[in-house]
Amino acid sequence: WDKLRDGLKGVRNRWSQGIAALFLGGTVSEAFWENLEDLLVSGDVGVELAERLIAELREYAKKGHLSETSQLRDYFLSLLEDRLLSVKGMGEPLALSPRPSLTLLVGVNGSGKTTTAGKLAAQYRRQGHRVLLAAADTYRAAAIDQLKSWGERTGCRVVSQGPGSDAAAVVFDAIQAARSTDADLILADSAGRLHTKHNLMEELRKLRRVIDRELPSEAVEVLLVLDAVMGQNGFRQVEAFHEALGLTGVILAKYDNTAKGGVLLSVVDRLKLPIRYVGLGEGVEDLRLFSPHDFVEELLS
Ligand code: GDP
Repeated sequence: WDKLRDGLKGVRNRWSQGIAALFLGGTVSEAFWENLEDLLVSGDVGVELAERLIAELREYAKKGHLSETSQLRDYFLSLLEDRLLSVKGMGEPLALSPRPSLTLLVGVNGSGKTTTAGKLAAQYRRQGHRVLLAAADTYRAAAIDQLKSWGERTGCRVVSQGPGSDAAAVVFDAIQAARSTDADLILADSAGRLHTKHNLMEELRKLRRVIDRELPSEAVEVLLVLDAVMGQNGFRQVEAFHEALGLTGVILAKYDNTAKGGVLLSVVDRLKLPIRYVGLGEGVEDLRLFSPHDFVEELLS
């Protein structure tokens, strides 16, 4: 979050500064409500959520006979934060027990799955865990190679087979390897080609069945890696993944690339899934546990 605060001096800052400025002072007028709604919607909060937030804030202003916008700031902050905290598991790290635990990363091609697997491997390894990477995106040779190079960088073993092999077999192997080497955590990459969406979902369901046969549900996470830049357009895809797999959370990748910080609120509101981590760059360090409090402070400071 330091990086988020310090590094993003561009468009997103102007967006959040615009919101912050509205609450600095001035009269609570129709123009204030309109400006606030425009800013929220232009920042990808989504029309419906923006309207609901404003309705609640209006109610608060009316009840308290508040006529200064600065009197509304703290309530608005708590409104946003409460909304984030109402979804269980927000900002929680990966499940690590019973051992070995497994986190399956799913999402469309290019969303950031392989990179996120590498960043998570580095973090958990640094904390002293034994991490094993499973190259279950067997469609693209490049994805297998990319994961292998993360394995080298992070000092984690990579379980893989050749391109075109059965993803479920790779994950099955990884679970056996984790048991025999006493590993704590398996991070499994997966395929994300969209043009054959049905087959993809079938493949992922099969993967999930194999995992569920081998491991207790408390040890399994299925996290969707979502490209923050997709804005309001990517939700249908997400719903398809959720229906097929029962997601346990979302990692919002490339948050550094979007000028529209509101997408994060919108993801939580629409999907009712916790944001677990946020990707803030391409480097190995650029992944943070999501903090609702810091996020809201950043938005309105
Ligand atoms: P996959 O196809 O889902 O496995 O996606 P990749 O992990 O290959 O990522 C696609 C591209 O997005 C790569 O160029 C990554 O370096 C980049 N990327 C991944 N996460 C982030 C992030 O949080 N911020 C930025 N700026 N780039 C990212």
